Amino acid sequence: MSVASRAPEYIRAIRPYQPGKPISELAREMGMPESGIVKLASNENPLGMSPAARQAIVDALAEVARYPDGNGFALKAVLSARYGVKPEQIVLGNGSNDILELVASSFLRLGDAAVFSQHAFAVYPLATNAAGARCVEVPAVAYGHDLDAMAAAIDGDTRVVFVANPNNPTGTFLPGEALEAFLRKVPADVLVVLDEAYTEYLAPEQCYDAIAWLTHFPNLLISRTFSKAYGLAGLRVGYAFAHPDVADLMNRVRQPFNVSSLALVAAEAALGDQEFIARSADLNRRGMAQISVALDELGLEWIPSAGNFLTFRAGKAAAVDAALLRQGVIVRPIAGYGMPEWLRVTIGLPEENLRFIDALRAALAETRAG
Ligand SMILES: *Cc1c(COP(=O)(O)O)cnc(C)c1O
Repeated sequence: MSVASRAPEYIRAIRPYQPGKPISELAREMGMPESGIVKLASNENPLGMSPAARQAIVDALAEVARYPDGNGFALKAVLSARYGVKPEQIVLGNGSNDILELVASSFLRLGDAAVFSQHAFAVYPLATNAAGARCVEVPAVAYGHDLDAMAAAIDGDTRVVFVANPNNPTGTFLPGEALEAFLRKVPADVLVVLDEAYTEYLAPEQCYDAIAWLTHFPNLLISRTFSKAYGLAGLRVGYAFAHPDVADLMNRVRQPFNVSSLALVAAEAALGDQEFIARSADLNRRGMAQISVALDELGLEWIPSAGNFLTFRAGKAAAVDAALLRQGVIVRPIAGYGMPEWLRVTIGLPEENLRFIDALRAALAETRAG
């Protein structure tokens, strides 16, 4: 009997995460120069990162031989000052992916269940399965979360509920009142993970204050990231706000140095440059309009999105994706999310959006002809 076959059955059953194709990989496969490739596949910020973050990284390079501050004192201090939470309510993660895994390893075991929506972020089932717990996937309504059905799906085994707002990959958005009403329905001993990875992109009229709810709902955890609007995806840093008891448990389980020194200083500097965030959100709004108008002109159905990406029905999505790749444009197929006819495109710079639109027009002509 092999070593691998002796691993727990629930580990062997895990389907690996399918990331967006890296630029270097497509360049290798197609023999294309990397400079000719447009990647709109992973919801990264097309403006890159704040110049303040870049400077902080350069300044910190000399100290890379030293371990980082395992408690992230300085980053927690700026998060605490900015958002009015106590440092003991904060957990820092190696990306918010790490936060989601820390939730699973702190709160889920064999026999427990986690509830989440159909078409929700792929890491929820991954983290749940890795802990040996059971996934309860609740059918979506209009590609978004059905909060009433999710509340009804909670039973005695449920320890965690994951809610993504906006959701990835569909971009659907739940208003604050709906979330608050949901929190009132969830039993006090079930942790609600509110994943706000794209919160910086919300329109002013969509904004709600989940942090204020922490006072009334000690079973709420808010998860956020520096990977998306802050443009630090490659550094891996995210954070959670929760009740101090919840944060304390997760801080015991996490690796002692789970956030690197460069990530810590970059995140701290990035938080201080809100002008960059405003500029990124503005660029996103204009790109969203540019791409949605073009999709309308092409006669394609798309889902209104509150994030920095747009999901559209391409029909023969795998063939359209292949034709886009041949033109050096990387988007994200989402068959793994139960949406085999759909593709997700990240909003890029105006010229990148144009490259995508032109390539999509050609890809559709090619696949409809063939
Ligand atoms: C991108 C994303 C994350 C996490 O990304 P990290 O880089 O690990 O911070 C979490 N949740 C959702 C919904 C996402 O789209």
